[in-house]
Order: sequence, then C-alpha cells, then structure tokens
Amino acid sequence: MKPRVVILGAGFGGLELSTALSEALGTSIDITLIDQADHFIFGFAKLDMLFGRTTEDAERLPYSAFTKPGVRLVRETVTAIDPETRRVTTNAGTHDADYLVIALGADYDVSATPGITLGENEFYTVAGAMHLRDVLPRFKAGHAVIGVCHAPFKCPPAPSECALMLHDYLQDRGVRDACTITLVLPLSAPVPPSPDTSKALVAAFEERGIKLILTRKVTAVRGKTVILDDNTELPCDLFLGVPRNRAPDVVVATGMTQDGWVTIDPRTLETKFPNVWAVGDLANTGAPKAGVFAEKAAAALAKRIVSRVQGEEPTAKNPGAGICYIEFGKGLVARVDADFFSGPAPTGIYTAPSAEVAAFKQSWSAALSKRWFSR
Ligand SMILES: Cc1cc2nc3c(=O)[nH]c(=O)nc-3n(C[C@H](O)[C@H](O)[C@H](O)COP(=O)(O)OP(=O)(O)OC[C@H]3O[C@@H](n4cnc5c(N)ncnc54)[C@H](O)[C@@H]3O)c2cc1C
Repeated sequence: MKPRVVILGAGFGGLELSTALSEALGTSIDITLIDQADHFIFGFAKLDMLFGRTTEDAERLPYSAFTKPGVRLVRETVTAIDPETRRVTTNAGTHDADYLVIALGADYDVSATPGITLGENEFYTVAGAMHLRDVLPRFKAGHAVIGVCHAPFKCPPAPSECALMLHDYLQDRGVRDACTITLVLPLSAPVPPSPDTSKALVAAFEERGIKLILTRKVTAVRGKTVILDDNTELPCDLFLGVPRNRAPDVVVATGMTQDGWVTIDPRTLETKFPNVWAVGDLANTGAPKAGVFAEKAAAALAKRIVSRVQGEEPTAKNPGAGICYIEFGKGLVARVDADFFSGPAPTGIYTAPSAEVAAFKQSWSAALSKRWFSR
C-alpha cells in the first residue's frame, strides 16, 4: 500500500506542500488534499478588491485547475480531527493518514469584539472586502478608523497598507480634506522586526495626516464609536476592522492549541503527535502569519515528509524567512526581507517603495499561480 498523506486545507501551506510532495514522489504516494472551498484567492487581493482595483471573479483560482500527480483534491469540510489515530472526519466521510498535516489557516472570532460583523465592517474576508467596496463611495466626510482587535493577526502590515490605500482613494475622489483616518494597531510599531520599515511607514502616515495609535486594541464598535482597550472612544463613521484571529474551532477541539494556536516545534513543524504536523497561520511558529512564511514552511515540511517516507532522518528546517511586500499607495510597493530564526533576534531589511518592487510582487504571485494552478 502506498504511504497516505492527508493535508487539511488548500491555502498557501497546503498548496505548496502537496505541489512539492508531488514533485518529489509523484504517484508513489497517495496525497489527499481537503478543502471546503472550490477556489483559492491570494490574501492581498482582498485589499485590491476593497479599493475596487479588482473583482472577486478575476482573483479566483479554481481548485479544478490544481492537478498534480499523486494528489487528489477533494471538496469537503473537515468536522473532526483525531491526531492520535490520524483519522479525519469530514461532511462526506473519513480519511485515514500515515502522515497528517493540518493547514486550515486562521479563522475569525467576532464574538470577542461586540460590534464587528463578518462580511460587513471588516476587510479580512472576501465578503467583507466586497461589501466595504460598495460602502466606500458613500463615505465622503467624517472619521475613518482602521482597527485591529487582537494580536497576532494575519499579515501584520495589511492594516497599514489599508490606511495608505484609503488615503489615496479619498484623495482621488477629492474628499480627503473632509475625512480623518486613524489606524489602531496592537503592536509596538507598524512592523516590529524592521525598525527601518516602521520608520518609513510612520513618516508616510505623518505626510498624509494619518493618525497612528500603537499598542492598543479595538474592544468594541458601538454605533459611531470605536472603543479601545484603554477605554478611549474614537468617533467613527467608517470602520475597517481586523477581527480577532485564531485557529479554526475544529482544530481547537483537538486540544492541540494554546491561546488559540497549535503548538509545534517551529523548525520541524511537528506537533506532539507522531507524524502529525501543523503548517501556516494556525501554528505557533514564532514567525508572522503570512502566506510567504506558510509557503516556505510547507516547502521545508515537504522535504521532511519525503525523508520520513524514504526511511531517512529529516534534516530540512522551517526557515522562518521570506519577503513581505507593503503597498505604499500610488502603485508603489516596499519590501522587507524578514528572517526570524537565523540570528539572536528577528531582522527585517527594508527596501524603499518603488514601481520595480511592485513588479516583483506581481511576479511573485504570478509564479505561485503558475506553479499551483498552471495559469
Ligand atoms: C488583507 C490581507 C492581506 C494579506 N497580504 C499578504 C501579503 O501581501 N503577503 C503574504 O504573504 N500574506 C498576506 N496575507 C496573509 C495570507 O493570506 C495568509 O497568511 C495565508 O493565506 C496563510 O496560509 P495558510 O495555508 O495557513 O491558510 P489559508 O491560505 O487561509 O488556507 C486555509 C484553507 O483551509 C480551508 N479550510 C478552513 N477550514 C476548513 C475546514 N473546516 N474544512 C475544509 N477546509 C477548511 C480554507 O478554505 C482555506 O482554503 C494577507 C491576508 C489578508 C487577510
């Protein structure tokens, strides 16, 4: 019987892992990749949708185009995971694994913040970004607040990007002077591991008259008021929120999480259960929750699983490093070469915003789209 690999979640982590395993082992293993959706969308596309630069239809990458030797992608919803027996239950049946990888991403917990509603006043879901896209044209004067409810959250620079893109959006419509923009982050700096990036973002906010409030969380949205965790009340006519992030309920129910995230060895991605790994946003890797880190971790995990299948001792390690791109508005993108594990402290080398970096970002996502979906 072929070794059975079951991968839960066809996002950044699951797509890269199954692609790399297929490349290495082809049809000599039996990979089942499970996702409840019928398509993938890059996370950053939500910002483009929000500001009307693209549409949901244009961004959909259908799973029907993901065809790799040895991989069977099934559209099912995972309802239970038994990490002891490596048995997964879905709405359609059960899957037994010799090697089980949990890559279900981060979910949102709106119950933690009264006044936040998925699909309405947040831009971290496709539904929310699309809804707010239709709300934005009606916002011509007043107070806009971009606020994060809890840390850690996916793509730490995304709220800063949102603030800069909102500035451009309002300016292009000739209403910027009638509006204020406030950004609330539960971080000590916009991009804590990279002081140069944080400095550049703070300068960009100052130039554009965007008010930055650091080390504070949004605890509630009440009518036209946003409440922070120090009881500050901000007037708000437009709220663009980031809900509390945490591992999906089906993962929390396994007892593998601590403070909402799966406990793993950050370098090997192993959970405490033999031949059960967690990769991507739902794992406590010590690196930021971003697609680029999930992808690199998945590539390393593929090598580790290949070694194990071949009876060798795995040596590949999650690098905890990658390139983050940051939209500065007006088509300019900066980059941060982040490295969380190589030195005694995380580092982030900053490259100033330019059209050239914007083109790199474009080619990065185009290359992944080609690699995973052949398009
Ligand atoms: C606004 C925004 C901007 C971003 N910008 C960037 C950026 O510029 N660069 C970057 O690197 N990252 C960015 N990200 C972050 C990036 O999208 C995530 O970090 C990345 O998708 C995480 O990959 P993952 O594999 O862990 O999870 P995901 O990509 O979220 O995949 C998880 C998969 O699991 C599936 N799933 C969940 N529950 C179930 C279930 N019960 N049954 C079956 N399937 C299930 C989902 O359908 C999904 O396909 C951004 C995110 C947002 C919200």
